[in-house]
Amino acid sequence: MARAHVTPPTVTREDIHTIPDDGFTARNVCLVTGAASGIGRATALAAAGNGLTVAATDVDEAGLEGTIDRDEELDLEGTIESIPGDLTDDADIERIVETAAGLGDLKYLANVAGMQHIDPIDEFPMETYDRMHRLMLRAPLYLAKLCIPHFRETEDGEGCVGNMASIHGHYVTSDKVAYNVSKFGLRGLTQSIAAEGEGLIRAFSISTGYVKTPLVTAQLEETAEQRGISVDEVIEDVMLGQSRVTEMMEPVDVANLFLLGFSDLGRHLDGGDLLFDGGMTLTYE
Ligand code: NAD
Repeated sequence: MARAHVTPPTVTREDIHTIPDDGFTARNVCLVTGAASGIGRATALAAAGNGLTVAATDVDEAGLEGTIDRDEELDLEGTIESIPGDLTDDADIERIVETAAGLGDLKYLANVAGMQHIDPIDEFPMETYDRMHRLMLRAPLYLAKLCIPHFRETEDGEGCVGNMASIHGHYVTSDKVAYNVSKFGLRGLTQSIAAEGEGLIRAFSISTGYVKTPLVTAQLEETAEQRGISVDEVIEDVMLGQSRVTEMMEPVDVANLFLLGFSDLGRHLDGGDLLFDGGMTLTYE
């Protein structure tokens, strides 16, 4: 029963909120990482649903095709272009930004790609730590570094970086040290971009609790084993136990927040974090 609550859903047209915004036109490009799956795919679709041209990147090329197929099935206003690449590789990052900038005026960057690894600190493989750091912290910085000059080149010189953080960027769970450290760091990166952006180049982060994506379903069994509890207990006690809203978020709920942050509604959101965690980190029974 509980398992059904974490089945990754498919994005529908009705799920995508459209925001009237002068910047949301086909001339403007939104680069989305992790766009082959989960939150990244939903963000690419929400950006296309808002009329933007989307540069969708991921290491999973077949998954990117699935995102483009969904764009076409839903007949969304914006087109999605696939730019496969590995974000742990600097040459790939450089090619991704160059290709995205060739599609129009690069104005928005959504850093979404991520991965998880569960092990206690004394057993945590350092090569896995390094890979996660490269993917979830260094790549967002390098992408931002390369995108910012393109933002400045646009007509109004404005642009925005949205970073996918997590409740793990606020407080931590055991056995996820690389993830915790990356998400805390990503909030620091967000504030650093804001500090230098003079209000023209904005940045924000999004921190959610557990969202129904393959990243979460993939860790159910391992977390159950690690903690010596059942999978249903992982969902009910570990993932939703401290949340007042006892329903897991869907990828498109997060995608809509990216578009809100990118839009004019987000013009005073600069360095801030959208903590959408159903009360998980700030309340206590
Ligand atoms: P997901 O596994 O569905 O998607 C992650 C994507 O990142 C995949 O498509 C994967 O191929 C891609 N990726 C992995 N390594 C890559 C690499 N080296 N280069 C390029 N792409 C790579 O996961 P998701 O749940 O959609 O997670 C997306 C982001 O949201 C992550 O940063 C995650 O930490 C964050 N997040 C997820 C949740 C959740 O509960 N699902 C909650 C808070 C934050």
